[in-house]
Amino acid sequence: MISEEEARRRVLQSIDLLGERAVPLSRALDCFSARQVDARLPLPMFDNSAMDGYAVVASSSRKDARLKVIGEQPAGIDRELRISPGEAVRIFTGAPIPAGADAVVMQEDTTCEGDEIVVNVGVDPGEFIRRRGCDLAAGQKILARGERIRSTTIALLASQGFADVTIGGQVNAAIVSTGDEIVMPGKKLDQGQIYDSNSILLQALVQRCGASVTSAEHCPDQSERLIEAIQRGIKNHVLVLAGGVSVGEHDLVQATLRSLGAKIDIWRVAIKPGKPFLFGQVGGCSVFGLPGNPVSAFVTFLQFVRPAILKMMGANDFDLPKTPVRLTVDLANEGDRAHYVRGRIDNGTFVPIGRQESHALFGLSQSNALLRVTAGESLSAGAIVDVQTWD
Ligand code: AMP
Ligand code: MG
Repeated sequence: MISEEEARRRVLQSIDLLGERAVPLSRALDCFSARQVDARLPLPMFDNSAMDGYAVVASSSRKDARLKVIGEQPAGIDRELRISPGEAVRIFTGAPIPAGADAVVMQEDTTCEGDEIVVNVGVDPGEFIRRRGCDLAAGQKILARGERIRSTTIALLASQGFADVTIGGQVNAAIVSTGDEIVMPGKKLDQGQIYDSNSILLQALVQRCGASVTSAEHCPDQSERLIEAIQRGIKNHVLVLAGGVSVGEHDLVQATLRSLGAKIDIWRVAIKPGKPFLFGQVGGCSVFGLPGNPVSAFVTFLQFVRPAILKMMGANDFDLPKTPVRLTVDLANEGDRAHYVRGRIDNGTFVPIGRQESHALFGLSQSNALLRVTAGESLSAGAIVDVQTWD
């Protein structure tokens, strides 16, 4: 049995980045930038109005001042107007500020009388003008290499005129759930059988990482069937198997992988739940064997498979998001494995939830955070701890 840290280090060490590619912005969400991107335009690109109103010279626009409207400046075209004290230009949100103007007075704060306006409020210089470059300067870094591309990142790239972005490679993953007792949802269940919840769970988790699931199949505990399923699966970058990785007579995954030439690098990690975790490689495919118990499959996916997929995709951060919370109960880990306690973040606190056993899927479904308690560690109620989140 190796430590969790050692297992993660070994997994990440054997993972290579996939080749980069350019994609349209509309296909870049949740991918990772393969390059640093710097702003090529300042934002805003020119001084413009934040309001519908009148561009004025602030010093000649005290309360009750009467100004002559000398023209109109809409958005989308620069009429290259110029104003002097005592004059105003009708202006609209986003329109370029005419030369000589140093403020905009809101339409609601004026009274229009023919080709003149009366200003009903005092006007300060700079008011309602969005200055060129005040949000972003040209040359400023807007995207780091390996950074996740979010909806707002895409908007920023678009505002710079970029139609494409270069991202890390597309990871293809296959999922195989194993076990004679497992039946696909929707099918009839016989006595002693249970529905397959792992393959749909793992599909969701793989997709949440931004990778593609090319196949998700179920395989009984039969060597020939498992050989076929693994042979199909290893055509992908990643193969995730669930169940059958332990030491029982029906646990065929490890022996079958070896018979197909897999190099098994990790088997059994000091983590609870999830000890019988397996990692190996065969023919360029990274193979993860997760324990069949749903909570174990979930925890080991997040701690080992997720970082590997993110690294392949070119991410610069493989860790789950962490949130500081106040613990509501005493927790002690007297065992020799790091324990991932499932619980809920509720109003800044963390409350362990449900049965803390590896089959307890309902408790897991009610939780939204994991607290890692190191072997031998004792935590007191009231302590501030960092918990991991995934959704
Ligand atoms: P195994 O790792 O194959 O020894 O399975 C451990 C436990 O997980 C057993 O109780 C299995 O019935 C259960 N299990 C295995 N595969 C699945 C699955 N796909 N969905 C739900 N439970 C499973
Ligand atoms: Mg099994």
